[in-house]
Amino acid sequence: MKQPLMLAALLLSSLGQSQGNPEIVAKVIELGKSGNQTRAHLEYLCEQIGHRLTGSSNLQRACDWTAAKFKEFGCQNVHLEQWGEIPVGFDRGSRHTGRMVSPKPRNFEFTTRSWTAGTGGLRSGGVFEEPTTVEALAKAAPKGKWMMMLPRQGDGLPTKEVRDAVLAGARAAGILGTVAASRNELVITSGSWENLDFANLPTNVDITVRKSDFEAVTEAMKEGAKPVLEFNLDQKFVKGPIPVYNVIAEIPGASKPDEVVIVSGHLDSWDGPGSQGTCDNGTGTMVALEAARLLMAAGAKPERTIRFILWTGEEQGLWGSRKYVEAHTAELPKISAVIVDDGGTNYCGGLVGIESMKPMLEQAIAPLAEAFPDLPMTIRAQEKMPQGGGSDHASFNRAGVPGFFWNETGVADYTYIHHTQHDKLEGAINRYLVQSSVASAVTAYNLACAPTMLPRQGG
Ligand SMILES: [Zn+2]
Repeated sequence: MKQPLMLAALLLSSLGQSQGNPEIVAKVIELGKSGNQTRAHLEYLCEQIGHRLTGSSNLQRACDWTAAKFKEFGCQNVHLEQWGEIPVGFDRGSRHTGRMVSPKPRNFEFTTRSWTAGTGGLRSGGVFEEPTTVEALAKAAPKGKWMMMLPRQGDGLPTKEVRDAVLAGARAAGILGTVAASRNELVITSGSWENLDFANLPTNVDITVRKSDFEAVTEAMKEGAKPVLEFNLDQKFVKGPIPVYNVIAEIPGASKPDEVVIVSGHLDSWDGPGSQGTCDNGTGTMVALEAARLLMAAGAKPERTIRFILWTGEEQGLWGSRKYVEAHTAELPKISAVIVDDGGTNYCGGLVGIESMKPMLEQAIAPLAEAFPDLPMTIRAQEKMPQGGGSDHASFNRAGVPGFFWNETGVADYTYIHHTQHDKLEGAINRYLVQSSVASAVTAYNLACAPTMLPRQGG
């Protein structure tokens, strides 16, 4: 591999506007391909720590652990930077079971919203279908039972007012909780800490079970059986305020330390039962961590500072990055680029920028084409920087700082994984993680060594 890389180095230097030192780039590629640690980082994150809801003790452990790793690699200025606090913390324990006990024993896949009540131990009881009138509720003898919810939308449903009244009546009568069906076989977790008050915590147990599991119960009911369901959901609220942090580490720039290239992903995840927060976004953050290790191990001395940031609060509205932008307004003009890896386990297939950025970006990724010939990358230019987008790069583009989202390319099906019960280690694809970590390291290093910062829109 040495000779082709040397050739590439010669070609690039003949372009007359060199970026990173080709020997360092070659070293990063060699180390990244021969002893890549992304998978090992990801295993620790997913198996030793697990899912990482913002404000949870798992996320705090992940922040502390990643900061320790950045220090171990020799990064500078490693710290947790507080971006805010949330009113109430939430910890989901490992005890999360849900099943039909009879007539046909069946384990469920299911979730509850984050920051909602667990069962406080095992709750077991019969079921009844959500009544369509308040009068019908009494006949269902709801106390001590699970209420099987009608679909949210559809023909022939009672009005919202009636449904709300039935639900309130059922809760007052002492149901164990509500059980609703997911829209398809994906069980999606969401939730919010907003308006939470530790003195007045939510108490209702509302469970969403996988569509086919829900239908197994309603089928049994139709056949005249009296199904019994049990749930045991270990969900704890933690008295706040809970401080929340982004994890920051740097390789200081040699000649332009105040100019910065940011490599990032979000460390928080959803925490639904089954999820380890692997692909959203364990992969992106462990890629950033490995990029730091590779650059340090290769002895990279970039001209600009390369700053690694692991955001948190992303899932509830890009909180970590938005607050970072607000807190660092004076430095924004000196941030050359912010690169986010947050599209799952696929490989870094390219970036979208504006025409004036294209030569510099193409040069930055050029060595990767040779290093990973079967994983092609492209730089696509459009008239304006993309606005919006569901991850932390959007916070920067909104502020006029070039924010990039790696165009995730490959065979993994992100929809199957994203925010669902399937976001587990088994979904991670190693050879893509190897490319992603090397691509992140090389691209950031080259941009950090380019003769100028990236051109900006309108600039
Ligand atoms: Zn994400």
